[in-house]
Amino acid sequence: MKKLEEYVRCIPDFPEEGVMFRDVTSVLQDADGLHLAIDTMQELVKDLDFDIVVGPESRGFIFGTPIAYNNHKPFVLIRKKGKLPCETVSMEYELEYGTAVIEIHKDAILPGQKILIVDDLIATGGTTEAMIRLVESLGGEVVGVVVLMELAGLKGREKLKGYRLESAICYE
Ligand code: 5GP
Repeated sequence: MKKLEEYVRCIPDFPEEGVMFRDVTSVLQDADGLHLAIDTMQELVKDLDFDIVVGPESRGFIFGTPIAYNNHKPFVLIRKKGKLPCETVSMEYELEYGTAVIEIHKDAILPGQKILIVDDLIATGGTTEAMIRLVESLGGEVVGVVVLMELAGLKGREKLKGYRLESAICYE
């Protein structure tokens, strides 16, 4: 049986020179890899009590939905600006160059609901931090964040002090 990290393909210099891109398509396109990824992520948060799984476009959808489905919980989408059809709330955050805006439907979370955030990867933590602020702006309580991969060298974890962060694979 292969280990989870063996399913992740690493692509040097993508999307730009000097970046080592951790590719999830190689995990997803293998039936055993997909099973192992979802099962491992789920196991890491099995003690958590949550009402809703929230995940961002686009790879957060892939990992978040099966975790929601398996736990019989709803899945709520966070999308880039302008994609959601109903009333939204937005959050702007810093990227390496410039800023980005993410949105969530205003009626998707009620005050006091417990939220599990799921994504494929945490790098600097900027995206995750923005998602937490977005959820909290609706009164949701973030009880945990689970990702397939953590790039520990980029210190995303330090941005999330006070929140529980679980990663299935951690790259130093
Ligand atoms: P952060 O905001 O933590 O710096 O970046 C995290 C976001 O960038 C994640 O949503 C993730 O999809 C994307 N990302 C950054 N680096 C990689 C990578 O090496 N592999 C993959 N699959 N996604 C990445």
